[in-house]
Amino acid sequence: MRLQDHRGFFLWFFPAALFFGCFPLSYAAGGEKFFRGESCAVCHARIRDRQAPSVAGRTLEDPISVKEPYDVVVVGGGFSGLSAAYFLKDRKVLVLEKEDRPGGHGRAESWRGIPYPTGTVYFNSEPYEAWKTLFEDLHLKPHKVPSPVNLLMVNGQLVEDFLGEGASRLPYDPQTRAGFLRLWKFLRQAYEEDRFSFSFRAGDLESQRLEEETFWDHLVREYGGMVASHYDRFLQDMLGAGIREISAFAGFLMLNSEEDFYTWEDGTYTAVRALAKSLSERLKTGAWVTRVWQDGSGVNILYEQDGKNLQVRSRTAVLAIPAHVILSILQGMPREKEKALAQVRYSAYVVTMLGFREPVWTKSYMLWANDAIFTSLVFTDFPKYGTSKRRGPQVALAYMPMGSEAARRRLLQTGDAELKTALLRDLEKVIPGSSQKVEEVRIMRWGHAEPIPYPGYLSRVRPRVAQPWGRIFFAGEATQIPAMEGAILSGHRASQEARRFLEANR
Ligand SMILES: Cc1cc2nc3c(=O)[nH]c(=O)nc-3n(C[C@H](O)[C@H](O)[C@H](O)COP(=O)(O)OP(=O)(O)OC[C@H]3O[C@@H](n4cnc5c(N)ncnc54)[C@H](O)[C@@H]3O)c2cc1C
Repeated sequence: MRLQDHRGFFLWFFPAALFFGCFPLSYAAGGEKFFRGESCAVCHARIRDRQAPSVAGRTLEDPISVKEPYDVVVVGGGFSGLSAAYFLKDRKVLVLEKEDRPGGHGRAESWRGIPYPTGTVYFNSEPYEAWKTLFEDLHLKPHKVPSPVNLLMVNGQLVEDFLGEGASRLPYDPQTRAGFLRLWKFLRQAYEEDRFSFSFRAGDLESQRLEEETFWDHLVREYGGMVASHYDRFLQDMLGAGIREISAFAGFLMLNSEEDFYTWEDGTYTAVRALAKSLSERLKTGAWVTRVWQDGSGVNILYEQDGKNLQVRSRTAVLAIPAHVILSILQGMPREKEKALAQVRYSAYVVTMLGFREPVWTKSYMLWANDAIFTSLVFTDFPKYGTSKRRGPQVALAYMPMGSEAARRRLLQTGDAELKTALLRDLEKVIPGSSQKVEEVRIMRWGHAEPIPYPGYLSRVRPRVAQPWGRIFFAGEATQIPAMEGAILSGHRASQEARRFLEANR
């Protein structure tokens, strides 16, 4: 998603930093009750702090072994895990997902009968390779978002195509505007030449150079500070963390993917449902995996479900869960693997559902603001109605990227009431009169939102995170790129690795 100018950045960043920095610590202890998105209490207790499994204070009994052995057990039912299992459907496969619904960051909820995404909201290119196969098999046909997709509110004016040629209408001096256009031309050319692809090409010196410096340093040097600040906002929205934290290669890769926009009303949950349906009883929800270990002939997976401690055995396993969870549950891994997993850093994100009793915005799918606590507002009814008139309630999602480590701590300490006050204040600035029409505010927190592709991550860390270990294969966005397509492609890759192993070790 998108951007801003220097002044906007400071206007946004400092109030936000003060705002989050000031919250009373008392929220930390009772923080869990505020959580939507991914509930962290059980995860922190069971996985991070390794507390003994218990239900209502009662320690769980010794595990009951599930007799049936599997070819592949997939841990995690987000896009990566569901896709891995989908491509192994002809095998004896089982997916274990801790939440009561699959989808991970691709889940949706609903308000007054209107579905809305809680994380993943759209994707930017026509499906290709394994992703295409999957969508075709499942008859998945997303809507292409009509124009205008993005509008930026700047100094009370709306600017369209503000990352492209529209940048010439932004309120900057001629030199800065020229910098924007130069960058835009470079991006167009790079896109034509397919210079930035998901698979980092180690031999390419130019890519290597871009991978070693931050995107911030690169943009400031080549295009000027205003251009860098503008794109910082945009990439914060996309990744949860800004361009001072990511490599220039990763920055170009993410920008390169911004072409057309595709979505469903529920974001991408339609695809999750179709995947889950195709797996039917092979997917178990409410199943917390607490320990994974392998021996000479198979993999053991310990999990909790319905107050029971269960153990299942499989010939192979695909771990499609975040790196910090793997570190806590996978036993006996080589030092090198542990080191790589520990090097994955995550951003934190708040997404807020704003339920309006009547439509407040019909001019674009996304509305960007450079001096608000949110980077963008997404109007989920736009793909269906476009700019035409509509009646009845409307849903908007406010995307609020928080940054990395320090932000995660603030997220734990911050109460819903404070977030809501700040959001409504800024909403009113961006769409005057809209805050009075808000009927409901739902705040969703993602403590480990997206892996941050910092300098050296894609070239040196990611390959080691993805590297199979014996009978265990690794999927998930940290092994590819932080996007739905990255998760799907990583699931496909891990499924192929597991398949090859099974075929070679009958
Ligand atoms: C706020 C936000 C907005 C985003 N917007 C977009 C977007 O618009 N477009 C886009 O392409 N991408 C977007 N992304 C990125 C996209 O959502 C992810 O890349 C993708 O969903 C990751 O899928 P995954 O399977 O790798 O991980 P996850 O979605 O994190 O799935 C991991 C699953 O594992 C489960 N799990 C974890 N631990 C255990 C355990 N111990 N036992 C059992 N199960 C476990 C979790 O509950 C979860 O369901 C966004 C992400 C966020 C956070």
